[in-house]
Amino acid sequence: MIGKTAWPANVLFRFLTIGGATVDIAPQPTTALPDRYAAVCGGCEASYTNPTGMSHNVKSWAQAHSETCRALPRPTT
Ligand SMILES: [Zn+2]
Repeated sequence: MIGKTAWPANVLFRFLTIGGATVDIAPQPTTALPDRYAAVCGGCEASYTNPTGMSHNVKSWAQAHSETCRALPRPTT
């Protein structure tokens, strides 16, 4: 096993924050927006969504957020 936790199956990209949490990018479709993607920080729960597919903006947000977020992830058992 590589890493501390297994990736959820739908996570496409994962960024490690300086606080030790992760920012995960995964599809987050809704009925109105079936091609929506979201980046969600596991430390502070900040998120960024793009309504029309995987975009450079989603990855840029995840990269930038991972470099500044010092929130710690909730411990898991
Ligand atoms: Zn965060």
